[in-house]
Parts: sequence; structure tokens; C-alpha cells
Amino acid sequence: MSRSVFITGGNRGIGLATAKAFAAAGDRVAVGTRSAEAPQGLLGIRCDVTVPGDPERAIGEAVAAHGPIEVVVANAGITLDTPMLRMSDTQFDTVLRTNLTGAFATAKAAARSMLPTRKGRIVLVSSALGFLGSPGQTNYAAAKAGLLGLARSLVWELGDRDITVNVVAPGIIETDMTAPLSEKRLANLMQMTPLGRLGTADEVVAAIRFLASDEASYITGAVLPVGGGIGMGL
Ligand code: NDP
Repeated sequence: MSRSVFITGGNRGIGLATAKAFAAAGDRVAVGTRSAEAPQGLLGIRCDVTVPGDPERAIGEAVAAHGPIEVVVANAGITLDTPMLRMSDTQFDTVLRTNLTGAFATAKAAARSMLPTRKGRIVLVSSALGFLGSPGQTNYAAAKAGLLGLARSLVWELGDRDITVNVVAPGIIETDMTAPLSEKRLANLMQMTPLGRLGTADEVVAAIRFLASDEASYITGAVLPVGGGIGMGL
């Protein structure tokens, strides 16, 4: 059955792969895009998750085009890495506003659309490093760990409407985000990864699609690590 799906940061990386997979399965997919044009074949809607009101407007447009949101994936994210003593308040705040506040605004707007229909799937894209901690990433780890508290509170607020809220925690995935990592850092991260390789965007997509599926109807408040073993036991 075709569902109305909205994904933030859907123009590249994990977000784009997710959008393509839902669309290929027959869903009606709208992707929030900040800077780029909509990928061909997908409905692109301007959405910078750090701009107050933008997620709400974008989701309104998605609802107008595709009907009430049934699945939302809060995927938009950035890193601005530097050791804490060199990190400016702005660097900290920008990462929090994108990865955490942006997900809050996205989930809020989507939940408004889901509540009257009494069904919905909310998936937040966190990171294994949010739970393990990571040098140079106090901002990113704080934001990604914060998503867990956000999700688990929403679980309580939305559970009686049959809306599930779950978190995916990818490990090290081959996208633009990890491309700038130094060989030394990558080697260090691979030592922490029992499978010993980077993951692919499609491997994260599989987890997102499962949590959004009918089969996951009794799963809410879960953290699903997709990291080749990094972050196991979360
Ligand atoms: P990419 O850098 O490839 O893509 C990030 C996406 O987020 C882009 O579409 C980007 O849009 C969008 N984005 C960034 N800021 C905003 C904003 N303010 N408003 C709207 N969209 C925004 O990264 P990935 O695909 O790898 O990352 C996707 C998610 O997965 C992120 O939340 C990331 O933290 C998480 N993750 C990634 C891991 C990895 O190893 N790659 C590991 C763990 C988690 P634009 O093109 O305009 O910049």
C-alpha cells in the first residue's frame, strides 16, 4: 500500500537512498532539500530544518501533495568537528540546531499530521558515535544522543495514537559526510568496527524501512545500530 513519506536531507547520502527505496516500493515520497534541486523523479520541497517554521511549511506542502504523513525520517545532519577547547558556541549550536532541534521540529510537524489518522512511523537518524562519544565531536555526539531522549519521550506522548518512534544509529557509512575523514581516523574507526569495513547507505536504508514497515508495528523506542558491530549493546 502506498504511503505518504517525508524525509529531511533527501537530496544526497542516506536520505536520498532512503527516498529512492521508499519510492521504488510504491510510496509517495517528498524530500526536504536545503540547497540542491530535487532529485529526478522525487517531489522536492525546500526545507532547511534550522529555519524556524520551515519543516512545518514543507510538511504542509507534502501533505497537500500526498496526503497526511504516514512515515517521516528525520535524517538531515551535519558535522562541525573540532576539539571542545577550540569549538565556538556557534559551532556547537549549529550542530545542535541541525541534528537535534531540526529533528524535533520535523517530528512535531509530522506528528500533527499523523495524530488525526491515528497511525504513523517516526524514524530519527542518530549515530553510534552519539552513544560511544567521539573526540572532536562534542557537538555532534550531544545532538545525536539527544535524539534518544527526544524519541523515547515522544514514544510516551504518541503511543496511544499508534504512532511509533524509533532511532537508527549508523556506524561509519560511506557518504559525503565521511569522505573527509583522514586515513588515520578511518583506521581507528575500523578498529572499533568488528566487520572491519564501512557501511553503505543502502544498509542503513534497510533498517529505516524495517522500522517504518507494518512488520515493526510493536517496536517503538528502540535504537537499531547499523554499524558492523560498532555501537553494539546500545
Ligand atoms: P551527507 O552529508 O551525505 O548528507 C547530509 C544531508 O543533510 C544532505 O542532504 C544535507 O543537505 C542535509 N542537511 C544538512 N543540514 C541541513 C539543514 N539545515 N536542513 C536540511 N537539510 C540539511 O550525510 P549522510 O547521508 O551520511 O548523513 C545522513 C544522516 O545520517 C545525518 O543525520 C548523519 O548525521 C547521519 N549519520 C551518518 C553517518 C555516516 O557515517 N555517514 C554515521 C551516523 C549517522 P545539503 O545537501 O543541502 O547540505
